[in-house]
Amino acid sequence: MKLAFNEGTTWESASLQQNLEYCEKYGYDYIEIRAIDQLKDYLKENTLGDLKEYFDTHKIKPLSLNALCFFNNRTKEDEEKVIEEFKEYLEICKKIDCEYICVVPSNIDVTEKGKTLIEEINASCIRVLSHLSDLAKPYGVKIALEFIGIQENTVNTFSQAYNIVKDVNRDNVGLVYDTFQFTGMGSRFEDVTDETAEKIFIFHINDVDGYPVGQMRDTDRVWPGHGVIDLEAHLKRLKELKYDFVASVELFRPEYYQMDPEEVIKKAKETTLEVLEKYYK
Ligand code: ZN
Repeated sequence: MKLAFNEGTTWESASLQQNLEYCEKYGYDYIEIRAIDQLKDYLKENTLGDLKEYFDTHKIKPLSLNALCFFNNRTKEDEEKVIEEFKEYLEICKKIDCEYICVVPSNIDVTEKGKTLIEEINASCIRVLSHLSDLAKPYGVKIALEFIGIQENTVNTFSQAYNIVKDVNRDNVGLVYDTFQFTGMGSRFEDVTDETAEKIFIFHINDVDGYPVGQMRDTDRVWPGHGVIDLEAHLKRLKELKYDFVASVELFRPEYYQMDPEEVIKKAKETTLEVLEKYYK
């Protein structure tokens, strides 16, 4: 299993350049780049050519761009903007040899009449993802759909996300399996079947404070092994499915943003390896 660092973990405390240097120093294999902010900041003073050169001359490699946000159930005008953003991401991927783009489903205000039926959500996801798949194919880029384990997200369980990518039925469309998102809305291990294995593209590892289902938030994430998630059960299941690609540590905790980012990157690796090593080398 390879080890990756998701820039969300230090997004208020470090630049992309710092993340690259500390990840290289502490031996990470991959980085998930925040295209929505940290990459934009980097490109104010650097070029994609500089970034490519960094990857070419170091061990660390790009895993994904994070993330194309809120792609489904949008107005026609907003959907067109999302598609344009995706096309920009594809060009970035091409320039830096990045294989994956993570995509995040839309949030809906569940307190208003704006609630949408699952049937309409899934239909929109399938239609847009099929279009993105066509666009990504000539680039050799894969799309990883990340379900978001909060009430107001339109795709908030593993089984719903899997059913969408199954219906999209393209080799370049799969899932992000994130232990926080999985726990957040009570996704079930029984839905993680052998059939789903080939659609699990990226594994995000983290832990969370013990709040009820539906009340956990990104800011409640803690170091792997320091919260209430049964990470051993997740790793055991992934091992049974013969998933052996990448574990990417992804935390969004405000206290960690107050820490020295080098310490965060070091500790994120140590705590991740502690839980991984029982199942993976
Ligand atoms: Zn994630």
